[in-house]
Amino acid sequence: MLLQEQRELVVEYGRRLVSSGLTEGTFGNLSVFDRTQNLMAISPSGMDYFRTNPEDVVVLTPEGTLVDGCRKPSSEYDLHRLFYLGRPDVDAVVHTHSTFATVLSCLRWSIEPIHYLVAYSGRDVPCIPYYPFGSLELAQAAYAAMGTEHNACLLGSHGLLAVGGSLAFAFDTAQQIEFLAKVYYHARMAGGGVKLTDAELDAVLGKFQNYRKA
Ligand code: 13P
Ligand code: ZN
Repeated sequence: MLLQEQRELVVEYGRRLVSSGLTEGTFGNLSVFDRTQNLMAISPSGMDYFRTNPEDVVVLTPEGTLVDGCRKPSSEYDLHRLFYLGRPDVDAVVHTHSTFATVLSCLRWSIEPIHYLVAYSGRDVPCIPYYPFGSLELAQAAYAAMGTEHNACLLGSHGLLAVGGSLAFAFDTAQQIEFLAKVYYHARMAGGGVKLTDAELDAVLGKFQNYRKA
């Protein structure tokens, strides 16, 4: 089977998305990119994560052509593949509907740097406007908002997107940004939160380069 190892990872982390409370039901999706073979393994569309097996995971080229698999690929495959085409540092993408990230996305609040874990994303976590799920416009807007400086963004009235050099790292980023969204929401409700200075952010971004690698 093509990309067997990567398909197994997609199954394992898909189950973790549900068991960690990062998504509800069949929503959210995830993928891994094998840069040497120039192929991505992506979760099937609308399928129960606990009934998904490696053969259900779909293999596509980063241009979106089906290479292997009997299921329909995630409707968000554009949201994944644009990062594989455009960002050499990204080999995994995780999309969730986790609660606090989704609340902020409905409020259209970007996450300002009031807690140092913002560094998992960059200097902030941008929030893009609403676009229909599965649309190329959604993928293009998320890709543009993240540039090369962010590893996460909020999708307006929808959820969260996180990218990384491995599925473990992209998943970790999704989990930490959900924590950050919860902290940010409560801090705003309590009247604010103190923003880190540019120098403080520079220092934490520097420390993060050695804290955890993909
Ligand atoms: P898929 O089941 O097609 O991956 O879609 C889920 C989702 O979250 C759409 O945004
Ligand atoms: Zn979604």
